Amino acid sequence: MKFAERMAKVSPSATLKLTSKAKEMKAKGFPVISFGAGEPDFDTPQPVKDEAVKCLAAGFTKYTPTSGIPELREAVCRKFKEDQGLDYTPEQVVISCGAKHSLYNLIQVLCGPGDEILIPTPYWVSYPEMAYLAGAKPVFIPTHQSEGFRLKPEALKKAITPHSKVLILNSPSNPTGAILEEKELREIGQIALEHNLICISDEIYEYYLYGGRKHVSIASLSPELKKNTFVVNGTSKSYSMTGLRIGYLAGDAETVKKIGILQDHSTSNPTSISQKMAVAALALPKSYRADVLKKFETRMKRMIELLSAVKGFKPFTPEGAFYVFCDISATGIASEAFCDQLLEKIHVAVIPGKSFGSDKHVRFSFASSEKDIEEGIARIVDWAQCLKRGEDEL
Ligand code: PMP
Ligand code: GLU
Repeated sequence: MKFAERMAKVSPSATLKLTSKAKEMKAKGFPVISFGAGEPDFDTPQPVKDEAVKCLAAGFTKYTPTSGIPELREAVCRKFKEDQGLDYTPEQVVISCGAKHSLYNLIQVLCGPGDEILIPTPYWVSYPEMAYLAGAKPVFIPTHQSEGFRLKPEALKKAITPHSKVLILNSPSNPTGAILEEKELREIGQIALEHNLICISDEIYEYYLYGGRKHVSIASLSPELKKNTFVVNGTSKSYSMTGLRIGYLAGDAETVKKIGILQDHSTSNPTSISQKMAVAALALPKSYRADVLKKFETRMKRMIELLSAVKGFKPFTPEGAFYVFCDISATGIASEAFCDQLLEKIHVAVIPGKSFGSDKHVRFSFASSEKDIEEGIARIVDWAQCLKRGEDEL
């Protein structure tokens, strides 16, 4: 088959591929421990599930407005106001089938051939592919573990060309867990304004912040920054609703309208029932998130403690999100081979850093129980001992 040219540069999602391989092996009876999935292991909250039952009973199973039911768009506006003091009207909000879909649509609407999309590395796997799918060029801006994976203003300036159109920010970051502090965001924002760059701020991990840190959205820093920023978020990570596929974005009303048109001719509305479930999720008391955060912080600390003790591993202590990005270069194994070996020999799933733009790293998700964290890393310790003694072929 001869495929469309736009598919030529696009590769499968490593996160989804490895996660489903691990699930498949588990179903076949292998004792797999997965640190792969970027999805909270908690059940979807009961009030959210109850809403689905109500929807079915009421026959809320038909088309809805393409850009989302008014009730959900209003709930999203309230969320932005409460969390960041951001004022948006429902006309500035569009609901999509997951934050991934929001990002995809936005990039389709804004970028095309000749445009460059600035992406700090390490990056979430789908950003470069979304650029390719729009015919645009991803331009990578390196950040380093020794500098806390911070996006430096000088590095940003160096990457800007007359073709630069969009800058993607993801704080807290998947895969590093690094965050951007207000001062850094102000500097980055200033550069974005000077160079007429549109900011896409992917804030899907905003509620996962450790050490009492507070989330800052670049859009909240000035009216000018709000004008040139699109804030992307969703209910997948915050409310254990990954399979229900609700994402949203807020920003310039004209762009939002264009996304509505794109959805009109591609997906139509996100699932009616999921939208109502998202309304219920956004109405949950703050205590729900506080409880989840507490559990994640405990797991993060334990995972860092255990990984730091593995010879040759240099884990980066995350400030947010639920991943540990770990430098494994001292093992001398490239990240994909490392992950293949781990899964095949000791049935532990982790994601190769190569797909996030760093072959020196692998990503561990701590969206798994403490028991699994203890057991999975104990297996890695044993395996690392064998490697050291040369008992295992590389
Ligand atoms: N952004 C980032 C940084 C992510 O890690 C993910 C992965 N879930 C998404 C967006 C998309 O999430 P979803 O489509 O499930 O809302
Ligand atoms: N974003 C999650 C991850 O990084 C889920 C998988 C995906 O959509 O990429 O693992």
